[in-house]
Amino acid sequence: GSTIGILGGGQLGRMLSVAAARLGYRCHIYEPGAAPPAGQVAERVTTAPYENEAALRAFAEGCDVVTFEFENVPTAALDLIEAQVPIRPGREALRISQDRLTEKTFLQELGLTVAPFADIPDRAALDAALDNIGAPSILKTRRFGYDGKGQARLQSAEDAHPALADMNGAPAILEGFVDFSHEVSVIAARGTTGEVACFDPGENVHREGILRTTTVPARLSPAQRTDAVLIAAKILNALDYVGVLGVELFVTAQGLVVNEIAPRVHNSGHWTQNGCTVDQFEQHIRAITGWPLGDGARHADVTMENLIGDDMDRVPELAKEKDCAIHLYGKAETKPGRKMGHVNRITS
Ligand code: ATP
Ligand code: MG
Ligand code: MG
Repeated sequence: GSTIGILGGGQLGRMLSVAAARLGYRCHIYEPGAAPPAGQVAERVTTAPYENEAALRAFAEGCDVVTFEFENVPTAALDLIEAQVPIRPGREALRISQDRLTEKTFLQELGLTVAPFADIPDRAALDAALDNIGAPSILKTRRFGYDGKGQARLQSAEDAHPALADMNGAPAILEGFVDFSHEVSVIAARGTTGEVACFDPGENVHREGILRTTTVPARLSPAQRTDAVLIAAKILNALDYVGVLGVELFVTAQGLVVNEIAPRVHNSGHWTQNGCTVDQFEQHIRAITGWPLGDGARHADVTMENLIGDDMDRVPELAKEKDCAIHLYGKAETKPGRKMGHVNRITS
Protein backbone atom coordinates (compact mmCIF):
# COMPACT_ATOMS: atom_id res chain seq x y z
CA GLY A 1 0.00 0.00 0.00
CA SER A 2 1.06 3.59 -0.22
CA THR A 3 2.44 5.71 2.59
CA ILE A 4 1.00 8.85 4.13
CA GLY A 5 3.42 11.22 5.82
CA ILE A 6 2.12 13.16 8.82
CA LEU A 7 3.89 16.21 10.20
CA GLY A 8 3.31 16.20 13.94
CA GLY A 9 2.90 13.20 16.21
CA GLY A 10 0.28 14.29 18.76
CA GLN A 11 -3.13 12.77 19.36
CA LEU A 12 -4.49 14.09 16.07
CA GLY A 13 -1.67 12.35 14.20
CA ARG A 14 -2.36 9.23 16.22
CA MET A 15 -6.06 9.12 15.32
CA LEU A 16 -5.26 9.93 11.67
CA SER A 17 -2.82 7.00 11.66
CA VAL A 18 -5.47 4.63 13.02
CA ALA A 19 -7.94 5.74 10.34
CA ALA A 20 -5.29 5.44 7.62
CA ALA A 21 -4.40 1.92 8.74
CA ARG A 22 -8.08 0.95 8.48
CA LEU A 23 -8.01 1.97 4.82
CA GLY A 24 -4.84 -0.02 4.20
CA TYR A 25 -2.30 2.81 4.28
CA ARG A 26 0.98 3.00 6.14
CA CYS A 27 1.86 6.13 8.06
CA HIS A 28 5.20 7.80 8.62
CA ILE A 29 5.23 10.38 11.42
CA TYR A 30 7.70 13.28 11.50
CA GLU A 31 7.91 14.81 14.94
CA PRO A 32 10.64 16.78 16.71
CA GLY A 33 9.52 15.81 20.22
CA ALA A 34 10.37 12.51 21.91
CA ALA A 35 7.85 9.66 22.31
CA PRO A 36 5.02 11.07 20.17
CA PRO A 37 1.56 9.54 20.84
CA ALA A 38 1.20 8.85 17.11
CA GLY A 39 4.44 6.90 17.12
CA GLN A 40 2.75 4.06 19.03
CA VAL A 41 0.39 3.33 16.15
CA ALA A 42 2.16 4.51 12.97
CA GLU A 43 4.48 2.21 11.07
CA ARG A 44 7.40 4.61 11.09
CA VAL A 45 8.49 7.61 13.12
CA THR A 46 11.23 10.07 12.41
CA THR A 47 12.26 12.03 15.49
CA ALA A 48 14.17 15.04 14.20
CA PRO A 49 13.86 18.82 14.20
CA TYR A 50 12.21 20.57 11.26
CA GLU A 51 15.65 22.06 10.50
CA ASN A 52 17.16 18.65 9.70
CA GLU A 53 17.20 18.70 5.89
CA ALA A 54 18.52 15.18 5.43
CA ALA A 55 15.82 13.75 7.69
CA LEU A 56 13.11 15.76 5.90
CA ARG A 57 14.30 14.56 2.49
CA ALA A 58 14.36 10.94 3.60
CA PHE A 59 10.87 11.35 5.08
CA ALA A 60 9.41 12.92 1.94
CA GLU A 61 11.05 10.36 -0.34
CA GLY A 62 9.16 7.51 1.28
CA CYS A 63 5.75 9.21 1.19
CA ASP A 64 3.07 9.38 -1.52
CA VAL A 65 1.32 12.34 0.11
CA VAL A 66 2.14 14.44 3.16
CA THR A 67 -0.35 16.03 5.55
CA PHE A 68 -0.04 17.69 8.96
CA GLU A 69 -1.71 17.81 12.34
CA PHE A 70 0.35 20.79 13.46
CA GLU A 71 0.20 24.20 11.81
CA ASN A 72 3.53 25.72 12.79
CA VAL A 73 5.85 23.74 10.56
CA PRO A 74 8.57 26.14 9.31
CA THR A 75 8.28 27.30 5.71
CA ALA A 76 11.73 25.99 4.74
CA ALA A 77 10.76 22.47 5.84
CA LEU A 78 7.57 22.63 3.79
CA ASP A 79 9.54 23.82 0.73
CA LEU A 80 11.85 20.85 1.03
CA ILE A 81 8.99 18.38 1.35
CA GLU A 82 6.93 19.93 -1.42
CA ALA A 83 9.83 19.62 -3.85
CA GLN A 84 9.33 15.85 -3.60
CA VAL A 85 5.73 15.08 -2.72
CA PRO A 86 2.36 16.88 -2.60
CA ILE A 87 1.27 18.43 0.70
CA ARG A 88 -2.46 18.29 1.40
CA PRO A 89 -4.15 20.55 2.34
CA GLY A 90 -2.02 23.01 0.41
CA ARG A 91 0.43 25.63 1.56
CA GLU A 92 -1.96 28.56 1.16
CA ALA A 93 -4.34 27.25 3.83
CA LEU A 94 -1.43 26.78 6.17
CA ARG A 95 0.05 30.21 5.48
CA ILE A 96 -3.26 31.97 6.09
CA SER A 97 -4.19 30.15 9.28
CA GLN A 98 -0.72 30.41 10.85
CA ASP A 99 -1.23 34.12 11.45
CA ARG A 100 -4.37 35.62 13.00
CA LEU A 101 -3.92 38.82 10.99
CA THR A 102 -3.78 37.12 7.58
CA GLU A 103 -6.55 34.76 8.69
CA LYS A 104 -8.96 37.52 9.75
CA THR A 105 -8.13 39.58 6.64
CA PHE A 106 -8.78 36.57 4.39
CA LEU A 107 -12.12 35.82 6.07
CA GLN A 108 -13.23 39.43 5.84
CA GLU A 109 -12.31 39.61 2.15
CA LEU A 110 -14.50 36.54 1.59
CA GLY A 111 -17.40 38.60 2.89
CA LEU A 112 -17.65 36.73 6.18
CA THR A 113 -18.23 38.45 9.51
CA VAL A 114 -15.31 38.51 11.94
CA ALA A 115 -14.74 40.45 15.17
CA PRO A 116 -13.44 43.99 14.63
CA PHE A 117 -9.64 43.62 14.58
CA ALA A 118 -6.46 45.63 14.18
CA ASP A 119 -2.79 44.85 13.68
CA ILE A 120 -0.78 45.82 16.78
CA PRO A 121 2.90 46.17 15.87
CA ASP A 122 3.59 48.62 18.73
CA ARG A 123 2.14 50.76 21.52
CA ALA A 124 1.05 53.57 19.24
CA ALA A 125 -0.98 51.10 17.16
CA LEU A 126 -2.54 49.75 20.34
CA ASP A 127 -3.61 53.21 21.46
CA ALA A 128 -5.11 53.91 18.04
CA ALA A 129 -6.91 50.55 17.98
CA LEU A 130 -8.37 51.13 21.44
CA ASP A 131 -9.90 54.35 20.15
CA ASN A 132 -11.70 52.39 17.42
CA ILE A 133 -12.37 48.99 18.93
CA GLY A 134 -12.44 49.96 22.59
CA ALA A 135 -12.87 47.60 25.52
CA PRO A 136 -13.76 44.94 26.37
CA SER A 137 -11.44 43.44 23.79
CA ILE A 138 -8.82 40.72 23.50
CA LEU A 139 -5.15 41.12 22.68
CA LYS A 140 -3.84 37.98 20.94
CA THR A 141 -0.42 37.04 19.61
CA ARG A 142 -0.65 36.72 15.84
CA ARG A 143 1.14 33.35 15.81
CA PHE A 144 1.58 30.18 17.86
CA GLY A 145 -1.41 30.60 20.19
CA TYR A 146 -3.62 27.63 21.10
CA ASP A 147 -5.84 26.64 24.04
CA GLY A 148 -6.20 30.36 24.84
CA LYS A 149 -2.44 30.82 25.30
CA GLY A 150 -0.95 34.13 24.19
CA GLN A 151 -4.19 36.03 24.88
CA ALA A 152 -5.10 38.79 27.29
CA ARG A 153 -8.60 40.08 27.96
CA LEU A 154 -8.76 43.84 28.29
CA GLN A 155 -11.63 44.87 30.54
CA SER A 156 -10.69 48.52 30.14
CA ALA A 157 -8.10 50.59 28.28
CA GLU A 158 -5.86 50.60 31.39
CA ASP A 159 -5.22 46.87 30.93
CA ALA A 160 -3.77 47.42 27.47
CA HIS A 161 -0.17 48.51 28.00
CA PRO A 162 0.66 45.88 30.66
CA ALA A 163 -0.89 43.19 28.44
CA LEU A 164 1.21 44.29 25.47
CA ALA A 165 4.35 44.32 27.63
CA ASP A 166 3.59 40.72 28.66
CA MET A 167 3.77 39.69 25.00
CA ASN A 168 7.49 40.47 24.95
CA GLY A 169 7.44 42.03 21.51
CA ALA A 170 5.52 39.22 19.81
CA PRO A 171 3.39 40.62 16.94
CA ALA A 172 -0.22 40.88 18.11
CA ILE A 173 -3.73 41.80 17.05
CA LEU A 174 -6.52 43.42 19.03
CA GLU A 175 -9.99 41.91 18.65
CA GLY A 176 -13.24 43.41 19.79
CA PHE A 177 -15.09 41.24 22.28
CA VAL A 178 -17.94 39.42 20.54
CA ASP A 179 -21.13 39.25 22.56
CA PHE A 180 -22.05 35.68 21.69
CA SER A 181 -24.69 33.40 23.18
CA HIS A 182 -22.70 30.24 22.47
CA GLU A 183 -19.93 28.80 20.32
CA VAL A 184 -20.24 26.23 17.56
CA SER A 185 -17.90 24.72 15.01
CA VAL A 186 -18.25 23.10 11.64
CA ILE A 187 -15.96 20.29 10.60
CA ALA A 188 -15.98 20.15 6.82
CA ALA A 189 -14.08 18.30 4.14
CA ARG A 190 -13.27 18.91 0.49
CA GLY A 191 -12.00 16.22 -1.86
CA THR A 192 -9.62 16.38 -4.82
CA THR A 193 -12.57 16.73 -7.22
CA GLY A 194 -14.00 19.69 -5.27
CA GLU A 195 -16.82 17.79 -3.60
CA VAL A 196 -17.66 19.03 -0.10
CA ALA A 197 -19.10 17.16 2.88
CA CYS A 198 -19.89 18.79 6.22
CA PHE A 199 -20.53 17.24 9.59
CA ASP A 200 -23.35 18.58 11.70
CA PRO A 201 -22.20 21.68 13.65
CA GLY A 202 -21.21 20.98 17.26
CA GLU A 203 -21.70 23.26 20.24
CA ASN A 204 -18.49 23.93 22.16
CA VAL A 205 -17.90 24.79 25.81
CA HIS A 206 -14.45 26.05 26.87
CA ARG A 207 -13.00 26.30 30.37
CA GLU A 208 -9.76 28.18 31.07
CA GLY A 209 -9.31 28.59 27.31
CA ILE A 210 -9.42 24.83 26.67
CA LEU A 211 -12.22 22.99 24.90
CA ARG A 212 -14.12 20.88 27.47
CA THR A 213 -17.16 19.55 25.63
CA THR A 214 -18.68 19.43 22.17
CA THR A 215 -22.36 18.52 21.87
CA VAL A 216 -24.36 17.57 18.78
CA PRO A 217 -26.88 18.72 17.85
CA ALA A 218 -25.88 22.31 18.59
CA ARG A 219 -28.53 24.87 19.50
CA LEU A 220 -29.01 26.36 16.04
CA SER A 221 -32.05 27.20 13.96
CA PRO A 222 -32.28 25.51 10.55
CA ALA A 223 -31.26 28.83 8.96
CA GLN A 224 -28.22 29.18 11.22
CA ARG A 225 -27.24 25.58 10.49
CA THR A 226 -27.41 26.29 6.77
CA ASP A 227 -25.36 29.45 7.28
CA ALA A 228 -22.67 27.56 9.20
CA VAL A 229 -22.32 25.01 6.44
CA LEU A 230 -22.27 27.68 3.71
CA ILE A 231 -19.50 29.55 5.55
CA ALA A 232 -17.37 26.42 5.74
CA ALA A 233 -17.95 25.55 2.09
CA LYS A 234 -17.04 29.08 1.01
CA ILE A 235 -13.72 28.89 2.87
CA LEU A 236 -12.94 25.44 1.45
CA ASN A 237 -13.57 26.55 -2.13
CA ALA A 238 -11.64 29.81 -1.76
CA LEU A 239 -8.58 27.88 -0.61
CA ASP A 240 -8.99 25.10 -3.21
CA TYR A 241 -8.72 23.00 -0.08
CA VAL A 242 -8.19 19.24 0.08
CA GLY A 243 -8.77 17.63 3.47
CA VAL A 244 -10.67 18.36 6.68
CA LEU A 245 -11.02 21.90 8.02
CA GLY A 246 -12.39 23.15 11.35
CA VAL A 247 -14.27 26.46 11.47
CA GLU A 248 -15.01 28.01 14.89
CA LEU A 249 -18.05 30.28 15.02
CA PHE A 250 -19.70 32.59 17.55
CA VAL A 251 -23.50 32.60 17.56
CA THR A 252 -24.82 36.15 17.99
CA ALA A 253 -28.18 37.87 17.57
CA GLN A 254 -26.77 39.46 14.39
CA GLY A 255 -25.70 36.14 12.90
CA LEU A 256 -22.65 33.91 12.86
CA VAL A 257 -19.21 35.45 13.45
CA VAL A 258 -16.14 33.47 12.36
CA ASN A 259 -13.59 33.16 15.18
CA GLU A 260 -10.83 31.11 13.58
CA ILE A 261 -10.13 28.26 11.22
CA ALA A 262 -7.90 25.21 11.67
CA PRO A 263 -6.54 23.55 8.49
CA ARG A 264 -6.73 20.05 9.95
CA VAL A 265 -8.85 17.65 11.91
CA HIS A 266 -10.17 19.41 15.00
CA ASN A 267 -10.78 18.57 18.65
CA SER A 268 -14.42 19.64 18.29
CA GLY A 269 -14.83 16.96 15.60
CA HIS A 270 -13.91 14.01 17.82
CA TRP A 271 -17.60 13.22 18.39
CA THR A 272 -17.76 11.98 14.77
CA GLN A 273 -15.83 8.85 15.84
CA ASN A 274 -18.97 7.54 17.50
CA GLY A 275 -21.66 9.63 15.83
CA CYS A 276 -20.95 9.06 12.14
CA THR A 277 -20.18 6.14 9.85
CA VAL A 278 -17.12 7.91 8.46
CA ASP A 279 -15.44 10.05 11.13
CA GLN A 280 -13.35 13.19 10.60
CA PHE A 281 -10.08 11.22 10.63
CA GLU A 282 -11.15 8.77 7.94
CA GLN A 283 -12.69 11.68 6.05
CA HIS A 284 -9.35 13.48 6.02
CA ILE A 285 -7.49 10.38 4.83
CA ARG A 286 -10.12 9.83 2.13
CA ALA A 287 -9.81 13.44 0.97
CA ILE A 288 -6.01 13.58 0.75
CA THR A 289 -5.75 10.20 -0.99
CA GLY A 290 -8.39 11.02 -3.60
CA TRP A 291 -11.16 8.74 -2.36
CA PRO A 292 -14.82 9.75 -2.52
CA LEU A 293 -15.80 11.48 0.72
CA GLY A 294 -17.99 9.78 3.27
CA ASP A 295 -21.20 11.65 3.92
CA GLY A 296 -21.40 13.62 7.15
CA ALA A 297 -24.74 12.28 8.32
CA ARG A 298 -25.02 11.82 12.05
CA HIS A 299 -26.64 8.65 13.44
CA ALA A 300 -26.65 9.64 17.13
CA ASP A 301 -26.70 12.57 19.52
CA VAL A 302 -23.29 12.77 21.15
CA THR A 303 -21.42 14.74 23.79
CA MET A 304 -17.65 14.63 23.55
CA GLU A 305 -15.82 15.41 26.78
CA ASN A 306 -12.07 16.03 26.83
CA LEU A 307 -10.06 14.26 29.53
CA ILE A 308 -7.59 16.87 30.69
CA GLY A 309 -4.85 16.32 33.27
CA ASP A 310 -6.24 14.55 36.34
CA ASP A 311 -9.48 13.70 34.54
CA MET A 312 -7.54 10.51 33.75
CA ASP A 313 -8.30 9.34 37.31
CA ARG A 314 -11.94 9.04 36.24
CA VAL A 315 -11.26 6.49 33.51
CA PRO A 316 -12.09 3.40 35.63
CA GLU A 317 -15.53 4.91 36.43
CA LEU A 318 -16.09 6.09 32.86
CA ALA A 319 -15.33 2.60 31.65
CA LYS A 320 -18.40 1.32 33.54
CA GLU A 321 -20.73 3.82 31.89
CA LYS A 322 -23.11 2.59 29.24
CA ASP A 323 -22.95 4.28 25.83
CA CYS A 324 -19.62 5.91 26.61
CA ALA A 325 -16.73 5.37 24.19
CA ILE A 326 -13.27 6.01 25.60
CA HIS A 327 -10.38 7.28 23.49
CA LEU A 328 -6.97 7.59 25.18
CA TYR A 329 -3.85 9.04 23.62
CA GLY A 330 -1.19 6.92 25.32
CA LYS A 331 0.67 9.93 26.74
CA ALA A 332 3.25 8.87 29.27
CA GLU A 333 2.95 11.83 31.60
CA THR A 334 -0.17 13.50 32.98
CA LYS A 335 0.16 17.29 33.31
CA PRO A 336 -2.36 19.97 34.26
CA GLY A 337 -3.99 21.29 31.10
CA ARG A 338 -2.68 18.42 28.95
CA LYS A 339 -5.22 16.65 26.75
CA MET A 340 -4.93 12.97 27.70
CA GLY A 341 -7.97 11.55 25.95
CA HIS A 342 -11.69 12.07 25.43
CA VAL A 343 -14.98 10.26 25.80
CA ASN A 344 -17.93 10.26 23.43
CA ARG A 345 -21.25 9.76 25.20
CA ILE A 346 -24.15 8.69 23.05
CA THR A 347 -27.14 10.58 24.42
CA SER A 348 -29.83 9.30 22.05
P1 ATP B 1 -7.84 26.94 20.02
O1 ATP B 1 -7.33 26.04 21.10
O2 ATP B 1 -9.30 26.72 19.68
O3 ATP B 1 -6.96 27.03 18.82
P2 ATP B 1 -6.97 29.67 20.52
O4 ATP B 1 -5.94 29.71 21.57
O5 ATP B 1 -6.53 29.78 19.11
O6 ATP B 1 -7.90 28.40 20.72
P3 ATP B 1 -9.29 31.41 20.23
O7 ATP B 1 -10.12 30.38 19.61
O8 ATP B 1 -8.97 32.61 19.42
O9 ATP B 1 -7.95 30.85 20.87
O10 ATP B 1 -9.98 31.89 21.58
C1 ATP B 1 -10.25 30.99 22.63
C2 ATP B 1 -11.62 31.27 23.19
O11 ATP B 1 -11.65 32.61 23.71
C3 ATP B 1 -12.74 31.24 22.15
O12 ATP B 1 -13.19 29.94 21.93
C4 ATP B 1 -13.77 32.14 22.83
O13 ATP B 1 -14.41 31.46 23.89
C5 ATP B 1 -12.90 33.22 23.44
N1 ATP B 1 -12.71 34.33 22.47
C6 ATP B 1 -11.70 34.43 21.57
N2 ATP B 1 -11.82 35.55 20.83
C7 ATP B 1 -12.93 36.18 21.26
C8 ATP B 1 -13.61 37.39 20.89
N3 ATP B 1 -13.14 38.20 19.94
N4 ATP B 1 -14.74 37.71 21.57
C9 ATP B 1 -15.21 36.91 22.56
N5 ATP B 1 -14.62 35.77 22.94
C10 ATP B 1 -13.50 35.39 22.32
MG1 MG C 1 -6.67 28.49 17.55
MG1 MG D 1 -10.13 28.51 19.01
